[in-house]
Amino acid sequence: MLNRRRFITFIPIATAGMLATRSACAEQLTESDPTAQALGYRDDVHKVDKVKYASYKPGSVCATCVQYSGKSGESNGPCAAFGGKTVSVKGWCMAWAKKG
Ligand code: SF4
Repeated sequence: MLNRRRFITFIPIATAGMLATRSACAEQLTESDPTAQALGYRDDVHKVDKVKYASYKPGSVCATCVQYSGKSGESNGPCAAFGGKTVSVKGWCMAWAKKG
């Protein structure tokens, strides 16, 4: 049984553990994912077929997309369009929309 002192110590440790588990659970989107394929997702914008995806605009990339919520300096981050799966900061898909 936890006494008050041990309980107060336990809370930050448990919280940190839950946050670490949550970030570790973020699934990375792959180009082979059926939804990713449907939206033409590429983890490197340089691999986008600009003929097939005429909606591509030069300079558009996940980092500048409204759906992207990754932290500055990180190589990938969550994308709302893919249910929070992580995408490459250098990626792109047809759902790109300029961050406001
Ligand atoms: S919706 Fe935006 S952030 Fe998500 S994969 Fe497409 S371009 Fe990248």
